[in-house]
Amino acid sequence: MKKIYFSVVGICILLFSILFIPNTSHAEQGEIYEIGEIILNVRSEPSSSGKVIGQLVEGNKVEIFQKKHGWAQTYYAGEEAWIAAHYLIPVSGKSQQAKTDRSNEQVTITASNVNIRSGPGENHPVIASTDSGNTYNIVKTSGDWHNIELTNGNTGWVASWLTNNGTNNNAAGQSKKQTNSVKNTKKANGTLNGYTIVVDPGHGGKDPGAIGLGGIYEKDLISPTAEAVAGQLRSAGANVIMTRSGDYFVTLGKRVAISNSYDTDAFVSLHYNTFPMLSINGTSTYYYSDKDAGLATKVQSAMASTVPLASRGSLQANYKVLRENRAPSILMELGFITNPNDLAHIKTADYQNNVGQAITTGLQNYFSE
Ligand SMILES: [Zn+2]
Repeated sequence: MKKIYFSVVGICILLFSILFIPNTSHAEQGEIYEIGEIILNVRSEPSSSGKVIGQLVEGNKVEIFQKKHGWAQTYYAGEEAWIAAHYLIPVSGKSQQAKTDRSNEQVTITASNVNIRSGPGENHPVIASTDSGNTYNIVKTSGDWHNIELTNGNTGWVASWLTNNGTNNNAAGQSKKQTNSVKNTKKANGTLNGYTIVVDPGHGGKDPGAIGLGGIYEKDLISPTAEAVAGQLRSAGANVIMTRSGDYFVTLGKRVAISNSYDTDAFVSLHYNTFPMLSINGTSTYYYSDKDAGLATKVQSAMASTVPLASRGSLQANYKVLRENRAPSILMELGFITNPNDLAHIKTADYQNNVGQAITTGLQNYFSE
């Protein structure tokens, strides 16, 4: 009996080795890929919760030794490291066919107002736009994207499904549909799964923003508030993009460009207010376009019921970050740093978390309409 048992175990181990080891073992020589994302985090584990141990930038080449659950393994600073496989463009070996040389082919744009991007995907910044009827030479094709020759001698990327030369590989179209269906399901249960929210910490670097009581800078209060807001939004399932991730200067134009380069569902700019009279207090939310009034109302009413400061309501204003934004967008003044009572709350982590909760609730209410 014992003997049979060990034989069975032995056969199992043998079978396991034959069937599985060859698939999971590290290839001795990896395949070369190019980074197709402006900045890509390098992590210690194949998961978005893995520790960030470094960053790679667009155009960097990496050698990939194995792939696991959408993550690709390379080495970084001498240790095993993982990057999101989604942003890798194959440049050698058998994967070469994915980036086909199509230098003799042409493509005609079949949709109006088509974005030309710096890389093959909707996550890449828009560098120009084109219109129906324009024809370009194709330099190469990667996935569902054509790299086209522009009149100024540069090249840029257009989505093949917006041209007369669609690719067989319809992965992007499918993932687009999936994103939409995620949104539709999530609309029913009130989370933010599948929604992309751009959070704009209003000031940084050489621009300190307003100066409050005791000489406190608006930027120094906005930074932790933005982190708290992003944390709450992420907990609710949102994909959060920050217009800056530290104390440095970002132009208003760049912030709009960041928002417009994503499939942004809502843009939220965060500020603290000042006024020469110390008695003036409370929070308010601004919108530019009438179509965004509903978003402002929803978020401001969540603020009114969540934070202990007075509500000054939602108001129309002509701010560049709102005016030039394609996404529904609001600018929030989260209290007066010139009012002693407001400022006492504003400085606390509790208040900043409450702001995050209010924005999350307001967005959920807006999207589930
Ligand atoms: Zn401000």
